[in-house]
Amino acid sequence: MRAKAAGAACSGCRRRSLRVHARYQRQLADLPFGGRRVRVVVHVRRFKCANSRCAQSTFSEQIPGLTTPFARRTPPLTKALTNVALHWPAVLDPGSRHDSRCRAAVTC
Ligand SMILES: [Zn+2]
Repeated sequence: MRAKAAGAACSGCRRRSLRVHARYQRQLADLPFGGRRVRVVVHVRRFKCANSRCAQSTFSEQIPGLTTPFARRTPPLTKALTNVALHWPAVLDPGSRHDSRCRAAVTC
């Protein structure tokens, strides 16, 4: 998977850049499918910031809904894991004061 946009906005100054500095692959864990682990391989470009006053000399492009800076999982997986962590008592003890509303939140 790769981004199709011609450029990207700098994470430091938000100015768009078209100057590709490097390319690399990122592997992201995603929500399981059919009970199996899913890995998304993303071909990412690193851009050089065009703003000479910006402290961020290079930056990596982000794909909305799929990548976030430095993350190794997709946002949907992060959200599901957060829900599990927040509602863990309800998963262990369904009869506890955490009712079905919590169990529904754990379902991905
Ligand atoms: Zn910048």
